[in-house]
Amino acid sequence: MNRVEHNGKFRRRHMKWMSKRFTFVIIPDANQSVKRYSVPALVFILVPALAVLLAFCAALFISLNAGNANKVHHLKNQLTSSQAGFEEQLQSKNKEISALEEDLLALSAQAEQFEDKISAVTKLENELKAIAGIEDATVRISSGSAEAEGGQGGEEIELEADFSSGATLADKTMKSFSDMTLQIDAMLPSLESTKEAFLNYQHILDITPSIWPTESKKITSTFGVRSDPFTGRAALHSGVDFGGDRGDPIYAAADGVVTLSERGYPHGNNIIIDHGRGVKTRYLHLNERLVEVGDSVKKGQLIGELGNTGRSTGPHLHYEVIVNGENVDPMPYIKEDREDQ
Ligand SMILES: [Zn+2]
Repeated sequence: MNRVEHNGKFRRRHMKWMSKRFTFVIIPDANQSVKRYSVPALVFILVPALAVLLAFCAALFISLNAGNANKVHHLKNQLTSSQAGFEEQLQSKNKEISALEEDLLALSAQAEQFEDKISAVTKLENELKAIAGIEDATVRISSGSAEAEGGQGGEEIELEADFSSGATLADKTMKSFSDMTLQIDAMLPSLESTKEAFLNYQHILDITPSIWPTESKKITSTFGVRSDPFTGRAALHSGVDFGGDRGDPIYAAADGVVTLSERGYPHGNNIIIDHGRGVKTRYLHLNERLVEVGDSVKKGQLIGELGNTGRSTGPHLHYEVIVNGENVDPMPYIKEDREDQ
């Protein structure tokens, strides 16, 4: 028996079973008639198959539902944790913002202090200019507060400031700093010229006779018309006489160059120092001369010894100040002790 033959036989037998019908007989009671139900054989296959299918669908539904619930739970968890993350981030950002706001306030306060300092420096420079007798020729960029003379200025910054105006404060601070940069830029050349003027001023001070040429401050004869100690006749005393001991130090009254250093009569040992600008000083009747013609001398430098040489009645220094060739009263040129200068 070959395979095809066998399959054909099986199918035929199977079809035969499917077309069969089963008859159920129900006998409810002896008196009642018997009920018959005829059911095709196919029902015995379809009903269990449907039951199995139904059970499978139910299982699938339950498992899918459970999966979804799980997913929802997971998403909820995720949402909660990311919400916590966001809150944490928000808190840390808020902290950063607070720190930045504090920095801004500090910076703004610093800008004000800086402005005050620039004002103070400007004021100081103007005072220096006034001392040195310089006109304020430079135009200064003023940012309001600089104009307030001696002002302890600036607006107060509330530490609990409303930060809706934070941008305004930042802008204001930024502008303050850029203004100050301009101010400093304008200051530099001005300070440079003030420095030059001061160096010049210092030079003029250095070359202007201003100190006592002797240790002793005993004035034995003043400048002007007096009776001549030798002739008794009225004569112009062309300098001031300082009493002292022979050998006492004699100092240069200002920076200058020695243009005369000689011994003669009636001046005895005498020295002339040229200080420039038409001003000379002369020191007469010295015991010793300690500088030569051509020497540069500094204010307060030892140039000789007090003496009694030439036409002199005793040890003293005859001191002259000559301005543009004319003898003037030396007293206005003696203002400082040597130690003071
Ligand atoms: Zn004299």
